[in-house]
Amino acid sequence: MWTTCTLWDYLCKMSELQDIRDLSYTELEDVLLHMSHPKYRARQVYEWIWKKDVTDFDQMGNVPKVIREELKKRYQIPHVEVEKVQTSSDGTVKFGLRLYDGQMIEAVLIPVERDDRYTVCVSSQVGCSLSCKFCATGTMGRIRNLKAQEILDQYRIVDRHCEDVYGRGLTNVVYMGMGEPLLNYGPVVRSLRLLTDPGVQGISPRRITVSTAGVAKMIMRLADEGLKINLALSLHAADDAKRSEIMAINDSNGLDELRDALYYFYRELRTKISFEYIALRDFNDSDEDAERLAIYARGLPVMVNIIEYNTVDLFHWKGSEEDRLDKFAKILTNEDVLVTIRRSRGKDIDAACGQLALDGHGAG
Ligand code: SF4
Repeated sequence: MWTTCTLWDYLCKMSELQDIRDLSYTELEDVLLHMSHPKYRARQVYEWIWKKDVTDFDQMGNVPKVIREELKKRYQIPHVEVEKVQTSSDGTVKFGLRLYDGQMIEAVLIPVERDDRYTVCVSSQVGCSLSCKFCATGTMGRIRNLKAQEILDQYRIVDRHCEDVYGRGLTNVVYMGMGEPLLNYGPVVRSLRLLTDPGVQGISPRRITVSTAGVAKMIMRLADEGLKINLALSLHAADDAKRSEIMAINDSNGLDELRDALYYFYRELRTKISFEYIALRDFNDSDEDAERLAIYARGLPVMVNIIEYNTVDLFHWKGSEEDRLDKFAKILTNEDVLVTIRRSRGKDIDAACGQLALDGHGAG
């Protein structure tokens, strides 16, 4: 058991140590060279910290003790830890995860066994600054950005769970959890590079989707990274006035600007683009709303995902009736727009779209 003094000493020491996963591969090589060790040792250390989930330098079996001791003096390997796991009646699993500084985030596993599709939904920020009017996360404000390794850890934790339960790893990754990924740009791009790096996780970029509330210039910047990932735009209304009512970001990133950015993204990458559209009863689910959406989608190779809204006590919204959703979808189909209706998953554990952050953050 810790005495007050030793715990304090320990915490002081830990706070002085740098997270070794903040270093790029080249920086790690430089550190080892500076310590007068051969460069190839960097590859070994890199594999331990990124592929084998070690939390202690002494677990690095093939790294000489002298190197481990030197690294220990300057670095630590903090990891995201599982605090709570909740499984929904439909198989969706929500992971409450604790970061090294005590902040909490959530990641969700969405298994679809019949399609052999196992998707993890990862968070990119603690909270979110955008305050969309239907989203529990937005009520928290932005607390801090996640580091790339904190995004990778979410993937690794859920991947291991998937292996244990289904005997196979994850097949897809979506950046659709807490936060706006494009407002935490550097770490998110770093996490995408690590996920797709054959020497780290080696996931095909085509199995990764970044979802944004719509930051036009960052969408274009993301296209320039050359990562062949998919993009989802949280659209929710194809009318500027209506969209601004529920998404303040639309005031500075209007629909025309977003469409230009999406064209650019598609021209550069030729990957999948989708519109997420939460159907809110008597707000954005009329025939006219569907027609406007069909016009907006015209010429863009998009798939529209209509999402059933999950009631959140904080807000007055109600989800659309089922026959309204069907009619809405039919109008789009008649206009040759590809459309799916996504029935919500994990509602009973608050893991569905717009519900993250209801536990443990005082947001609901
Ligand atoms: S919907 Fe996304 S961007 Fe909007 S507040 Fe929620 S987490 Fe942030």
